Amino acid sequence: MTFSELGLSERVLKAVEGAGYVQPTPIQAQAIPHVMQKRDVLGIAQTGTGKTAAFTLPMLSLLESGRARARMPRTLILEPTRELAAQVEDSFAKYGVNHKLSVALLIGGVSFGDQDAKITRGVDVLIATPGRLLDHFERGKLLLTGIEVLVIDEADRMLDMGFIPDIERICKLVPFTRQTLFFSATMPPEITRLTEAFLHNPVRVEVSRPASTAQTITQSLVASGGKDYEKREVLRGLIKNAEGLKNAIIFCNRKKEVGVLHRSLLKYGFEAVALHGDMDQRARLAALDSFKNGEAKLLVASDVAARGLDIPDVSHVFNYDTPHHAEDYVHRIGRTGRAGRQGSSVTIVTPIDDKSLAAIEKLIGQKIEWTGEPVEDAPRRSREDRGDRRHGGRHEAGRKPSGRDRRDSGEARKEPADHHRRAAGRPQQAAPAPRPPRYAEEHEPRRSHDHDASDARVVGMGDHVPSFLLRPVRRSG
Ligand code: AMP
Repeated sequence: MTFSELGLSERVLKAVEGAGYVQPTPIQAQAIPHVMQKRDVLGIAQTGTGKTAAFTLPMLSLLESGRARARMPRTLILEPTRELAAQVEDSFAKYGVNHKLSVALLIGGVSFGDQDAKITRGVDVLIATPGRLLDHFERGKLLLTGIEVLVIDEADRMLDMGFIPDIERICKLVPFTRQTLFFSATMPPEITRLTEAFLHNPVRVEVSRPASTAQTITQSLVASGGKDYEKREVLRGLIKNAEGLKNAIIFCNRKKEVGVLHRSLLKYGFEAVALHGDMDQRARLAALDSFKNGEAKLLVASDVAARGLDIPDVSHVFNYDTPHHAEDYVHRIGRTGRAGRQGSSVTIVTPIDDKSLAAIEKLIGQKIEWTGEPVEDAPRRSREDRGDRRHGGRHEAGRKPSGRDRRDSGEARKEPADHHRRAAGRPQQAAPAPRPPRYAEEHEPRRSHDHDASDARVVGMGDHVPSFLLRPVRRSG
């Protein structure tokens, strides 16, 4: 199959050639002819499959006839995040080099004034996040009655982010006769309901989910205790000792963790930027730019912020948190080892991650190798079948971490010891995990001046027994 067989216009074909694409991807080959015939399309595909071009290329071809009117955009593309919206805008610029179409981006963090001025002049393509679009609509500056094509991209992520009521509202504001192109990586019941309500006799196009990981990626696991400061220490060791590290994306499960880890890395002198949903638009784009152009070697990100971003040539992926959803693992490590290049991924695994790890290994159909020295005295013995694959760890230098260590400043004080250990050639030391107190230890009297011991879990009231408990109990009757 070639692009010229898909019914695209000459100008679009020229741009595709200019982009260096030789063959349409499966989603493009299956969807484009239907879009060109003005059919509604339900595309079950995720980023990385070429789905952006699957809707952008035919839209550009269809937009060649007709022109935009003031305040009445001709087409509308809804994206869940600002970055994805900006990425789609880039695609229009890339594939639309031979067109003179007006494209506007309505995303949070950009001034209403500039966006209003553009809409007032008339736009062919409006790319928006749902909330910002409705803000503009409510201000009366935007009319949605001229929409010929509506694209709802990454619908399942819209669901995750709570945008479905906004989407339903927008679907009711655009003309009933518009063409709808709807993309989602998965089809949970809420999404199926949405497609049944708003798509007219759609063509269903599905491309397989990448349940397997590329052969060019070396995957490994490293054990850590479950405390944040322990994980941060393990991560720093991984970064310092990673072979051939050019740049890396570090994934966290929660956006709060992204901020904390980012600040910690900066404190330790790493060139890092962060990407999470609470950052303003300018900061997010600046972070992404500095990572893309190599100024920052490390990008700390959450799944939601990073998914779908097209960042070529990443040498390493570190999973600071083992992902809770196995599919996120595939997405995350798919950021490296692209286009036949070699890549490495290392996942930090704590004792509570057993289930998540089992689900990942089941999905990808392979066991992932552990690295680092297995250490006796595991924080929690895992299932027997793990055998010596399993980790554990006594806290380094045989002491429990004090409260001070847990603060970033405390971590900084531990750095020299860390350095020596690495220099001694034990780079990926299994995690420093504090030993859980055994029954006998728990009942040992605590020494009031021992700061380390002050971290031990206190059971009941510790060694103090209030006198009322020692009084004999008189039984009535
Ligand atoms: P997407 O899934 O839309 O995010 O696209 C993923 C990447 O694939 C982007 O970097 C596109 O530039 C690239 N791409 C899209 N279509 C093709 C194609 N037919 N051949 C080669 N690369 C493509």
